[in-house]
Amino acid sequence: MKIKTGLIIKVLLIIGLFGSDALYAQNPDIKPLPGLLDDLKLLADKTNAERLEALTTILSEKEIAYEIEPFTAESRRGTVNGRNLVVTFGSGAKDFVLGAHYDKVTVGSGVVDNGASSIILTRVAEALKNETFNNRLRIVWFDVEERGLIGSAQFIETHKDDPIVSMINLDVNGYGDTMMFGPTASTGMHRLYELAQSVAMKNDIGFILFPRYGGGDDISFQRADIENISIGVGPLGEVREFWLAYNGLDAYKPAGTPVIFTNMHSENDAMDKIQPLAMTYTYTVILEMIKQLDKMIK
Ligand SMILES: [Zn+2]
Repeated sequence: MKIKTGLIIKVLLIIGLFGSDALYAQNPDIKPLPGLLDDLKLLADKTNAERLEALTTILSEKEIAYEIEPFTAESRRGTVNGRNLVVTFGSGAKDFVLGAHYDKVTVGSGVVDNGASSIILTRVAEALKNETFNNRLRIVWFDVEERGLIGSAQFIETHKDDPIVSMINLDVNGYGDTMMFGPTASTGMHRLYELAQSVAMKNDIGFILFPRYGGGDDISFQRADIENISIGVGPLGEVREFWLAYNGLDAYKPAGTPVIFTNMHSENDAMDKIQPLAMTYTYTVILEMIKQLDKMIK
């Protein structure tokens, strides 16, 4: 009896200490995909041209065909040259897009923002290359996001006659345990959010919905009235702080810049931050979302 009481107290203590984790259960069956760090090192600290080169090398090694779409665009800071990288699967009546920007700012290694997402896309492409699709999927690595979402805007311009109906964006997917889905407030279309949530729940991956969210290439699609969602991952504490900063009532807003942002566009964006398991959470969710979305798009 004594032993049992002790056990119960221990169990209660554990629940008390870690109870909140039960709300954000992470799936122990998800094991990190092998080789993610080696692939990501090919992008770390490289120029944007070298990053594009590395991505095409990875795709070629996986025997995945790609196209490079060069562009020249006028921006507030003058003429910008860039190159989007595109992989196409399927040939159905509608198009849907899975995208991530591969360019980086000059400071930092550019792995959290956004090399990790770029590598995840190569793995998703590999997993899908022998699938059959009802629609046409475009997997796009966007250039020049960091100077004003220019590559994604250019992609929409180049493909303005294509029937693009849906877009999933990956930005900041390098470390942490909790997925971020947003911005729920601006799309007015809940299909992608319901899908993201159901896939995450089915896989026991914790997530938080963001009504307001950071601005990435999803905004270019929002501006074109195309259904969209942006997906990231971070540690629960950092994700909550970010959520409060953008969405909390004034009384709850944290002081200063959320850590998730001080880790971007700085020397903190480095390989030592990267957790292959976090990248694999995103991979798992994205892969299943793409398969289900293809069936949902009519
Ligand atoms: Zn980014």
